[in-house]
Amino acid sequence: MSLKVNLRLLEKESIQLDGDVPASELAPDFQDELMRLAHPVEYELTVERQSEAVLVTGSLRTHVECECSRCLKGFLLPVQVDDFSLLAPLEGEEAIPVDGDFADLTPAVREDILLALPTNPLCGPDCRGLKPKGQARELQVREQAEPNTAWSALDNLKL
Ligand SMILES: [Zn+2]
Repeated sequence: MSLKVNLRLLEKESIQLDGDVPASELAPDFQDELMRLAHPVEYELTVERQSEAVLVTGSLRTHVECECSRCLKGFLLPVQVDDFSLLAPLEGEEAIPVDGDFADLTPAVREDILLALPTNPLCGPDCRGLKPKGQARELQVREQAEPNTAWSALDNLKL
């Protein structure tokens, strides 16, 4: 079921919208190397009619399948928007899509869910990442050693 609200009913009273929408329907174009919207987005919304707009308030909740940007471990990240609030105009450039009597709130909800996603998902605040310290040091030593080998090769040429 998609996030549609009957504008004719809305003229009489506010409407409660509770349910969930598949992430594939909410954000079909979403692509990220480290995140996948694989779980439905649950919503609990109250929709009220204002003069030339609808006021939508409530909360959104989902889980996002992530890969840690430091250690590449897979984990499930809870994403929640507790104070969702949107005044969506019914006319003009910023208007939400209206089909007959129904206004579609999907684009509005998508935007807030995407804004709630982290730029670099981390499995935990203390994640130390992939490389243990010993390996990193070994790499440094080798990098410092290389110019020396180049010089000695040059010395050999001169001889
Ligand atoms: Zn990690």
